Amino acid sequence: MALPEILTGMRTVFKNVYKKKETTAYPEVRRQPFPRFKGRHILDRHPDGLEKCIGCELCAGACPADAILVVGADNEPGPRFSPGERYAQVYQINYLRCIFCGLCVEACPTEALLMTTEYEISGPSREGLVFTKDQLIVDEPIVRHWPTEKEYPPEHNLLKELEASRSETDAVGGARNAGDQRLKSTAASGRGGAQS
Ligand code: SF4
Ligand code: SF4
Repeated sequence: MALPEILTGMRTVFKNVYKKKETTAYPEVRRQPFPRFKGRHILDRHPDGLEKCIGCELCAGACPADAILVVGADNEPGPRFSPGERYAQVYQINYLRCIFCGLCVEACPTEALLMTTEYEISGPSREGLVFTKDQLIVDEPIVRHWPTEKEYPPEHNLLKELEASRSETDAVGGARNAGDQRLKSTAASGRGGAQS
C-alpha cells in the first residue's frame, strides 16, 4: 500500500496550494520589451501613401541568413508604388531563417524596413512563417494573437517585485521565530531560577 507516499504528496499539495503564485499569466499580463528590442519587421510608407521600399535588394544582400527575397520591378507610368524608378514587386522575409540581427534595417537606404518590438511570430505551417509583402506593409497596428489585460512598461521588474514580497514574508516569519525564541529562553530561565 502506498498510503505514506499519497499522504506525503497531499501534504506537499496543501502546503503549496495557498502560497502566493510566482508565475505571470501570459499573455493576459505582459511586460513590453525595451525599445531597442528587435522583433517583427515592417515595411513603412511615405506620408502620401507611397511605399518607401525601392526594391534595391540591399537588405537581401546584407542578410547573413539569406532570409529575405526581393524581386524589384520598374514603376509604370500612371499610379506608382514608390517614388523611385523601382519598387518591390515581391518582398518576403522567412522567419524560419531570420536571426533578428537587424543588418537588413541598417542596409536599407530609404528607411523602408524597420523592426518593431513585437515578438509573437507564429504560423500554422512552415510556409506560414514566410511573411509576404502584404503582411509586412502594415497600415494598422499589428494584431496580436491573444488580448492583453495588463501591460507593464519595460523597466518594470517582475522578479524584483516577487523578491520584495518574498523577503516581506521572510521578515514576518523571522520576527515570529525570534518571538518564539525569546519565549523559550524566558521559560528556560524561569525554570532555571525555580531550580536554583
Ligand atoms: S534581421 Fe538579420 S537575419 Fe533577419 S532578415 Fe534582417 S538581416 Fe536577415
Ligand atoms: S527594404 Fe530597403 S534595402 Fe530592402 S529592397 Fe526595400 S529599399 Fe532596398
